[in-house]
Amino acid sequence: MALEQLYVKALGHGQLNVDEGLSLYTKAPLEDLMFIANQLRQIHNPGKTVGWMVDRNINLTNICFSQCSFCNFCRKKGSPEGYVTTMDDYIKKIDELFSLGGDQILLQGGMNPDLGLRFYTDLFRSLKSMYPTLKLHSLGPPEIVYLAKKERLSYCEVLSLLMEAGLDSLPGAGAEILSDRVRKIVSPAKATTSEWLNVMKEAHKLNLPTSATMMYGHVETLKERIEHLIHLRQLQDMKPEDHYGFITFIPWPFQDEGTELLTKHGIRSSYTGPGYIRIVAISRIILNNIRNIQASILTVGQEIGMLSLHAGANDLGSIMIEENVVSAAGSSNRFNASEMQEIIKEAGFIPGRRNQKYEMI
Ligand code: SF4
Repeated sequence: MALEQLYVKALGHGQLNVDEGLSLYTKAPLEDLMFIANQLRQIHNPGKTVGWMVDRNINLTNICFSQCSFCNFCRKKGSPEGYVTTMDDYIKKIDELFSLGGDQILLQGGMNPDLGLRFYTDLFRSLKSMYPTLKLHSLGPPEIVYLAKKERLSYCEVLSLLMEAGLDSLPGAGAEILSDRVRKIVSPAKATTSEWLNVMKEAHKLNLPTSATMMYGHVETLKERIEHLIHLRQLQDMKPEDHYGFITFIPWPFQDEGTELLTKHGIRSSYTGPGYIRIVAISRIILNNIRNIQASILTVGQEIGMLSLHAGANDLGSIMIEENVVSAAGSSNRFNASEMQEIIKEAGFIPGRRNQKYEMI
């Protein structure tokens, strides 16, 4: 299909297939992609409001058997640097979060072989009994796959027990690139493509809000990036009507500093600023059934974050008080609440503080 025909199909909210998406992604001038993505952003989120929020990442543990080659946050069991976060630490960090006006924690960490489902349900219950208004955006499909295998339960049973204990939403962590060829190279011990998607399918049936992500710029091909987006779109199409499904999509680039991919295999991040804007725009175009596209200002920084808002993104995420996995791999972007709002205004938009369900507050 000629580029002009692809423009018409995309602007008409048509679902591009892999070849069409790849053509548009690789051949369209960036300004055209940005224009189309902006038009589609206005269909999903009319107006100039750009969302942002306050939340805090608390790492449950840095002990992980997975040893993904892009991660330099994790430690092996028995390492003197390994830890499991204590209740005193949670209390200190959550008190600080509430004092800054936040009410959500992104509770993630490694897949620690010593921690079973009971550990997580007890933890969620304790936190919710101490902080009834706290929102838990926690774990991710790889942990659900791991817990299901460990406890011999279905994904539905694990998710239901976690929801009963207080899980409010499931981050799209561990998606990286949804291609088993890529996953065998960068995260061979982690959930496969179909396992990741099947967990999300169950979460959508249970009406647990979820997010979708992509970490790109390592060993994947351009076609595999497009296939990743189409996997997500197809799953979103299958969610029960009126259920949350994927509330948002967040792409971020591989951060290579100190990772095994770089030090042992010489694989550098292929990130460039214009390349990120192109990813944001093509994501908005292909994911025509996911309402929110978030630019990862934590990893790409202020300028590219601002430009992404002109390429289909309608959200800049959180001022995230703590984010150890990304910062351990070389990202040092940090913003406070007033800086975040200034960035949004400087880009020509209106800041709108939101909750974790993307509802303005
Ligand atoms: S990215 Fe996550 S699953 Fe992979 S090694 Fe790091 S902590 Fe473990």
